[in-house]
Amino acid sequence: GKTLEVRDLDHTYSVNGKTTQALKDIAFDVSAGRFLSIVGPSGCGKSSLLMMLAGLLTPSEGVIAVGGRPLTKPDPTRVGVVFQDASLFPWLTARRNVEFPLFLRGVDKALRREKAEEALALVGLERFADSLPHELSGGMKQRVSIARGLVQDPPILLMDEPFAALDEQTRITMGDELLRIWEKARKTIVFVTHGLSEAIYLSDEVLVLSGRPGRILDRVVIDLPRPRS
Ligand code: ADP
Ligand code: ADP
Repeated sequence: GKTLEVRDLDHTYSVNGKTTQALKDIAFDVSAGRFLSIVGPSGCGKSSLLMMLAGLLTPSEGVIAVGGRPLTKPDPTRVGVVFQDASLFPWLTARRNVEFPLFLRGVDKALRREKAEEALALVGLERFADSLPHELSGGMKQRVSIARGLVQDPPILLMDEPFAALDEQTRITMGDELLRIWEKARKTIVFVTHGLSEAIYLSDEVLVLSGRPGRILDRVVIDLPRPRS
């Protein structure tokens, strides 16, 4: 079925009486288990759309539904989010960073541990559970961030240019690592990037946004076997 449905979405910012239309007529859906990238030039509304898919910004018009139910606020049990900078707490170990969403919900310690360990194993970092972020490489920090996004087992993992801050070689390695995690975890991935070649390499489908306000220019299904380099 459809994990994610975006219907008739428009968005206009209004700041000090000045209005900017950021998105117009955005409608698409994503089937369970697909890897969708959203690409487009700077200013086409990618960040705005991402914030909406994360439940952090309410669109002026339209509906975003996850698993058939409208998403009106952040809900990490339905949409796990990975940001460009891993945004880990520097004073918490990898394990505690991954546990953090569960800690906030008051989940008891034993279950928190178990879930964090599963998520760290999924990203191949079980041996680094007790490391602090500064002891980890950039790619490893992003893997911790992915583990944190998946720790509540949401159907959707939403990623905001997750590898943009990494060097070229690490970016390629992390792309392959993400595909491995995606195949193992069986999640729907929505990956926002301005890198078209990265999107083509990784995705099943690419949604191309363009213009101001941003509209859907095209939706391309990539029916090629992986790997594609
Ligand atoms: P992208 O991520 O593709 O660069 P954005 O979503 O950041 O696009 O921006 C889309 C449009 O919305 C741009 O014209 C931008 O100036 C405007 N915009 C983005 N955020 C805000 C905001 N908080 N207030 C007012 N205008 C904004
Ligand atoms: P231990 O030190 O044996 O791991 P707890 O897990 O009970 O003991 O945690 C002790 C304190 O550490 C908590 O009361 C809380 O303040 C903090 N803490 C534990 N886990 C987290 C977490 N995942 N995120 C933030 N703070 C945490």
